[in-house]
Amino acid sequence: MNKEWSDKNKKMQSLIKKESGFKEGIDVLIELRNDLFFQITSIVETYPLEAFSLMPFAGAKGYHSKTLVYSMWHIFRIEDIVAHTMILKDSQILLRDGWLEKTKSPIITTGNELKDKEIADFSKQLDVKAVCGYCRTVMESSNAMLTKLEYKDLKRRFSDEDKEQIIRSGSVSSDEEAFWLIDYWCNKDIAGLIQMPFSRHWIMHIEAMCRIKNRLCQKARKGVDPIAYCGLSCDHCFLKEECGGCRTAYNTCSYATCSPNGVCPNTTCCKEKNIDGCYECEDIVSCHKGFYENKDEINAIKAMSLFIHKYGKKELMRVLDNLHKKHEFEKIQEVVGYNIEEGLKILEQNR
Ligand code: SF4
Ligand code: SF4
Repeated sequence: MNKEWSDKNKKMQSLIKKESGFKEGIDVLIELRNDLFFQITSIVETYPLEAFSLMPFAGAKGYHSKTLVYSMWHIFRIEDIVAHTMILKDSQILLRDGWLEKTKSPIITTGNELKDKEIADFSKQLDVKAVCGYCRTVMESSNAMLTKLEYKDLKRRFSDEDKEQIIRSGSVSSDEEAFWLIDYWCNKDIAGLIQMPFSRHWIMHIEAMCRIKNRLCQKARKGVDPIAYCGLSCDHCFLKEECGGCRTAYNTCSYATCSPNGVCPNTTCCKEKNIDGCYECEDIVSCHKGFYENKDEINAIKAMSLFIHKYGKKELMRVLDNLHKKHEFEKIQEVVGYNIEEGLKILEQNR
């Protein structure tokens, strides 16, 4: 489990056990949920639509065997049902403000009853951006509810009438893969529900989403030129496990994710000029676009591009292999330094 998320979850659990720490514990819970939700929005903003209905771990045992958008749907349907039908006893978000129509979902259930291809088919029908909007609305509504909780509420339990109400809502399928959820939730008190579904359930599914998206990136990068437009080598990059590279639609490099269209300025410019990379550009020395912003921590990238210009891509890969054999480092500037000319010299000395 992601250490940072797991530590925050443990801290929250220990704080809410005592009345004196309860409010701080809820603050930690909200912080954890915000961190986790950021993962979802960055995936939605960065990955191509096709990624959301792919199942790179189909048939595996575990949450990662699903799709990205199924995972989002499932996390927030469960939270919506528990928060609104069970705890607040009002109407679920999905059934308000046209969310069901906007998401284009053919079901109102949690999706536990769906198997293999049914999950992929269901995922293809969903409007990913609308599902993300639904998820955010559920999250914000639950956060408001959580912050209003009092310490004494933790022991609150649920009745047979609460179970009946969930059954009547039709939000949980009668399939045996899903129906058990009703007893599972109703046998917990609010303290138990804070773990499942309001925190731990998110962690498990969002970690699975990260596994899915990383695998999709690896698949996308297969057979693609590993030299990025800016001159970095994706094969030697510290982000290579979680980025598909700028020559694919699965690019999650820093400048791409900060750019409104999800494409880094160097990539856009090279495509406009119809060149293979910045190392083929006659303006490279004076260029300050994107990765050439003239910041100490990224100057090594231009040094690599200038190296490719002089010696070619294969030679850069060889030099980077050599440097990785000689030194333990994560980012290239740790060995090439912060100055473009000096960096180029260091690369040349390692040929
Ligand atoms: S961050 Fe840049 S260099 Fe690293 S893998 Fe992604 S595209 Fe390649
Ligand atoms: S102008 Fe700059 S960003 Fe554009 S191709 Fe040339 S070096 Fe790359």
